[in-house]
Amino acid sequence: MSDNHSGDDHASTPRFLASDNTSGICPEALDYLHRANEVDDLAYGNDTWTARASDAFRALFETDCEVFFVFNGTAANSLVLASLCQSYHSVICHQLAHIETDECGGPEFFSNGSKLLTVPGDGGRITPEGIERTVTKRGDIHYPRPRVVSLTQATEVGTVYDLNALRAIRDVADHHDLRVHMDGARFANACAGLDVSPAELTWRAGVDVLCFSGTKNGLAFGEAVIFFDKRLALDFEYRCKQAGQLASKMRYLSAPWLGLLESGAWLSNARHANAMAQRLIAGVSDIAGVSPMFEVQANSVFLEMPAAMQNALRSRAWTFYTFIGEGGVRFVCSWNTSPALIDALIADLREAEAEIAA
Ligand SMILES: *Cc1c(COP(=O)(O)O)cnc(C)c1O
Repeated sequence: MSDNHSGDDHASTPRFLASDNTSGICPEALDYLHRANEVDDLAYGNDTWTARASDAFRALFETDCEVFFVFNGTAANSLVLASLCQSYHSVICHQLAHIETDECGGPEFFSNGSKLLTVPGDGGRITPEGIERTVTKRGDIHYPRPRVVSLTQATEVGTVYDLNALRAIRDVADHHDLRVHMDGARFANACAGLDVSPAELTWRAGVDVLCFSGTKNGLAFGEAVIFFDKRLALDFEYRCKQAGQLASKMRYLSAPWLGLLESGAWLSNARHANAMAQRLIAGVSDIAGVSPMFEVQANSVFLEMPAAMQNALRSRAWTFYTFIGEGGVRFVCSWNTSPALIDALIADLREAEAEIAA
């Protein structure tokens, strides 16, 4: 099953481009997991690894932020939104947002009922106008009071919010006293794609809280929750504990993060994944029937293609999803996606093109 590196042609061996969580643990993370295992340490985050990883995040973000480690993204998003909202508040997000479509009501559950108000927007992005319209639609006591804007960076369809887009959203948020939450399931890919620093892409552009995914960046599991406005972090550790997200051996969540941050792998992994997505989109540009659905700005590629072509790929053991975002075939590249794997996919698409034409 370690065929991800070879890109060879065994139709029975799955070839994984379905998501960036099909990949394994990157060497830097695994190295630090082993290092953390050499000596015992204190539990519940009172260990040296967690302190060092938290400091590494403060260095990376160039600010004195509050850092928490949880197991997964649904918990990170849900608990953050719960901490920003009273039950009568609402959260403005894109209609394709993971918090709306893929968290099984987690944000509403943990916030005791805060409502998600979804807005449309091209390329998976919400706009200042969309936010403004949603906030000003009603101002009476019968409407759930808007409190948070939630953005996904990179978006669910593989695009990014650039600095101007973020600043414009911050302006409208300030105007209506809204907090800004960023679902950074692919935050590293956005930094890499835009070639801007983590600080520029978050608090300097007005983000209050970031959920930074390690899972999709090369960890076994783990997300960092980063509060740039430290007042918003009040009692967050109690929420984590109550939700079953306080790891007693937290060093095994935090040490691999330190591996990503100290080595710079968080960024090189993302750059590699993005480069593989660029290789794929460039390689399919002249294949009849295949067309890109969105600009490729991070590590995901969405392609429209005929059903016969999708079937041809499935019969060649390619794994991909067709239900995410606005449909189409989604391929996601990760830290260990090889150029050979991408080239094999392009070759199979060409074969399918010829079969369909014949
Ligand atoms: C993967 C992902 C998450 C986190 O998902 P979990 O399975 O809960 O870890 C959050 N947001 C987006 C946009 C994602 O793609």
